[in-house]
Amino acid sequence: MLTWVEIDSSALLFNIKNFKKIINKKTKFYAVVKSNAYGHGIRQVSKIIRNEVDGFAINHISEINEIYDLVDNPILVMGGYEESDLKNLLDKDYRRIMLVLSNSDQLKILKSILKKDVQFFIEVDTGMSRLGYRPDSKEFLQLLDLLKDHQDQILGLMTHFSNVEDVTEQSYAYQQLQQFEKAKKILYQYFPKRKKFFRFHSASSAATMLIPKSHQDLVRIGISLYGLWPSLPTKLSVYNVYNDSFQLKPVLKWKTRIVHINEVPPDSKVGYGCSYHTSNRTKIAVLPVGYNEGYDRSLSNRSSVIVRDKRAMVIGRVCMNMIMVDVTHIPNVQVGDEVILIGGSAKTKEEVSADDLADWANTINYEIVTRIHPSIPRIVQ
Ligand SMILES: *Cc1c(COP(=O)(O)O)cnc(C)c1O
Repeated sequence: MLTWVEIDSSALLFNIKNFKKIINKKTKFYAVVKSNAYGHGIRQVSKIIRNEVDGFAINHISEINEIYDLVDNPILVMGGYEESDLKNLLDKDYRRIMLVLSNSDQLKILKSILKKDVQFFIEVDTGMSRLGYRPDSKEFLQLLDLLKDHQDQILGLMTHFSNVEDVTEQSYAYQQLQQFEKAKKILYQYFPKRKKFFRFHSASSAATMLIPKSHQDLVRIGISLYGLWPSLPTKLSVYNVYNDSFQLKPVLKWKTRIVHINEVPPDSKVGYGCSYHTSNRTKIAVLPVGYNEGYDRSLSNRSSVIVRDKRAMVIGRVCMNMIMVDVTHIPNVQVGDEVILIGGSAKTKEEVSADDLADWANTINYEIVTRIHPSIPRIVQ
C-alpha cells in the first residue's frame, strides 16, 4: 500500500471516556461522524464506538446509508435536504432517524415529512445566521401552528454556537443560550402537554468542554472525538479549567511511502513554477500524495514530513498527486521507506500534527483531516 490512514481505536475510546467524565449521566453523547467522520472513515469509526455512544450525528440524509446497517443507535441528520432525499428513508426504521426542520422552505415538503412519521428537532437560529428559525420570527410561530396535529413528531429544539472556538470569553455564547431559552418557552406555551418529552441540545466539542450550561439533554461531539482541539484558545481555556485532567489523544496518522529518489546538482529547480532552487547537491524523495489526496497546495515549500524518524522539508509546489521532499540529510533513505505525513516518531518524538499542517496551510485542523481523500484506506489499529 502506498498511502494509508491509521485509526487508533484506543484513542477514540479514550476521548469518549474523557468527555463522559465532564457531562452529566443523563446527557446523551452523540458522535458527529459527518464528512466521512472528519476524514477518519465513517464506517471504521462508527463500528469502533457504536457501543460507547448514544447516537450518531451526520450532515446529509444520504450518509445514513453508510452506517444504518452497522449501528443500532439513533441517527441525527443535521444538515439540509430536499424532497427527493427523503426517498433514502423509505426502507428505514423511522424511529431511528431524526431529521431537523430548519427553514421555511422545508414547509413545502413538510407534508411528506409528516406523512413518514419520522421525528425531528426544530433548529433555532440563536445568532449564527446559518440554519434555523429565529425565536422571535413569524416563521417560527407559523411552523408551530402547522405542527399542532403532529406534536408527537417534535423531539425538541436544537441550536448551534457560532463563536465558542475563536474566543476565550464566552459572552456571545451566553447570549445565544438566552435566545434558546426564549424559543424553549414559546415551544412550551404551544405544546404544554408535551413538555416532559421535549429534548434540547446545543453543544459541539468546544461548548461541551467550556460551557456546562450548554450540555442540556445531548451533546454533539465532532472534532475532539478525534482527539483534536477545536482551536488553540479552546485548548488554553480548557487547560485553565481542568489542568491536565482533561486530555485528548489524536486518533489519526497519515502515512505514505517513497516512490522515487532523485539526486540533483546545486542550482537545480524543483517542481512546477521552479519555485525551489537547490543550493547544494540534493537528494529528493518523491511521495505519492498531492492536493487530490488532500495534501493542500498551499503547503508548497512550507510543510515537513517525517522520514526515518527525521524531519524533512517539502520542496517545490505540491502537485496533483505528488510532492517532493528534501531527504539529503537522511542516511540510507530508500524507495519504499515509510513516511509520516500526520503523526509522530516514537523514537525521536519528531512530530507533524494536523494542527501544524493547518497552521502552514492557513486553515484549521478540521479542514486538514476532512480533506484526506475518501479513497485512501483507513486501517484500524
Ligand atoms: C459539525 C457540527 C457539530 C460538531 O462540531 P465540532 O466542533 O466538530 O465538535 C455539532 N453541531 C453541528 C450542528 C454541526 O454542524
